Amino acid sequence: MQGSGFLNTISTHYIDGAFVASHGREVMDLINPTNGTLIGQVTLADEEDAQRAIGAAKRAFATFGRTTKEERLTYLRQLCAAVSARLDDLTAAMVREYGGGVQFAAPIVQAGASAFLAAGKALEELPLTRSWGGTTVTLEPVGVAGLITPWNANALFLCAKLSSAVAAGCTVVMKPSELSALQTQVWLECVHEARLPKGVCNVVTGRGDVVGAELVRNPDVAKISFTGSVGVGKSIMREGAATMKRVTLELGGKSPNILLDDADVDEAIPRALGIAFLKSGQACAAGTRLLVPKSRLDAVKRAILDTMPAFQVGDPADPKTAVGPMVTEKQYERVQSYIRKGIAEGAEVLVGGEGHPRGLEAGHFVKPTVFVNVQNQMTIAREEIFGPVLCVITYDTEDDAIRIANDTDFGLHAFVGGTDVPRARRVASQILAGRVAINGMLDDQQAPFGGFEHSGVGREFGTFGIEASLEPRAILQ
Ligand code: NAD
Repeated sequence: MQGSGFLNTISTHYIDGAFVASHGREVMDLINPTNGTLIGQVTLADEEDAQRAIGAAKRAFATFGRTTKEERLTYLRQLCAAVSARLDDLTAAMVREYGGGVQFAAPIVQAGASAFLAAGKALEELPLTRSWGGTTVTLEPVGVAGLITPWNANALFLCAKLSSAVAAGCTVVMKPSELSALQTQVWLECVHEARLPKGVCNVVTGRGDVVGAELVRNPDVAKISFTGSVGVGKSIMREGAATMKRVTLELGGKSPNILLDDADVDEAIPRALGIAFLKSGQACAAGTRLLVPKSRLDAVKRAILDTMPAFQVGDPADPKTAVGPMVTEKQYERVQSYIRKGIAEGAEVLVGGEGHPRGLEAGHFVKPTVFVNVQNQMTIAREEIFGPVLCVITYDTEDDAIRIANDTDFGLHAFVGGTDVPRARRVASQILAGRVAINGMLDDQQAPFGGFEHSGVGREFGTFGIEASLEPRAILQ
């Protein structure tokens, strides 16, 4: 990345262990979402760049696919050290480029660095060879993996996807979001420092329908691991069928947060708002449907009104900021349209509403919005908004709450809050979601992450994430 003042120009891709000039010629502006100013330009890759990267990954796989566990563990440790050395730079790029508040960006980047060690721990626990009688089963790396990431938490997804692939012995071609070029560039400097064998990790920033489509179509790519929207996930599954791609799809969510009737509202509501407005609401796991007992609605409304002033909107670089701007003007408009739709369908705005917060008109800022009187059939309760918009839905009984929670196309994440923890666990066990967290936003990098139903296919993290890049081969005698 050549810095010219604050304007960054990125015109290379990372192929076969080196930064190489882009064959693609299209140049895209990078806009700071906080103030709408130009902060950089990136030259986007074309199909030929993608094919060169795939070629390099294929050549490297011949050797890397046969590495031992110990060798892979060494590379994972080197990657962790290299990313850990640049945490502040990665955080700054994330704040500047996508408006991710430093409050969220710093722990996300840290989680990215630790994903390498977590994958190492999972690899140590995963038996790659199992034998009985005359039969031996070995878990073989699937081949070249195409890893496609979205713009939100790009640094974490790059780390998480690369860590599972390296643990499995796969070589990779990564296609980060074109909106994340600055983060990707800093991250690539880390990868270069980590001294992986040439061609193990190749990265081409380009458009989804150009570079992403090439990865999905190319017969030399064995597997696609994709994080992004449901629509693109479906198209990857469809298009990938022609070359029998293995797929891991991490897609959207409309996560329920069930407040049980024994929950302490004064504790639970600040937590619920934090879960809803996670990454300024631009989070797949955000708890955007808050299910509350009808009898507690007044107390819940009061607690929301009392708590909202703590959710400061503004400059994402300010550690006190809880809600930063939306990533693009388009994303701003998308959130506005859902707010209008919610009002039109009869939901009541308790706080927030349409337009920019006062004084923040220059950036893509929206007002964190809480709707009450929401029915689970309304559009705002069914579709992923990907902005700081929370729907409060009331329920009569615990069974009713579970039914409403599960009445969705998605199943990525869910939350249950209550003081009787065994009861909360009982409720959690009836929710159709890949992860259910009790009393807060919790993470465990050994636990699988991924969704039921339209939230995706397969899992990332832990042994589950590594197994998704392995094929069992049985030898019988
Ligand atoms: P998106 O689907 O538009 O893009 C994601 C990535 O796919 C980008 O790199 C894009 O360039 C690429 N892409 C686009 N078209 C493609 C094609 N035809 N073939 C191959 N690749 C293509 O998503 P986005 O707007 O970048 O991200 C927001 C979405 O991501 C939300 O729906 C959110 O829920 C989802 N998401 C899911 C998770 C999860 O872990 N489940 C995490 C974060 C975000």
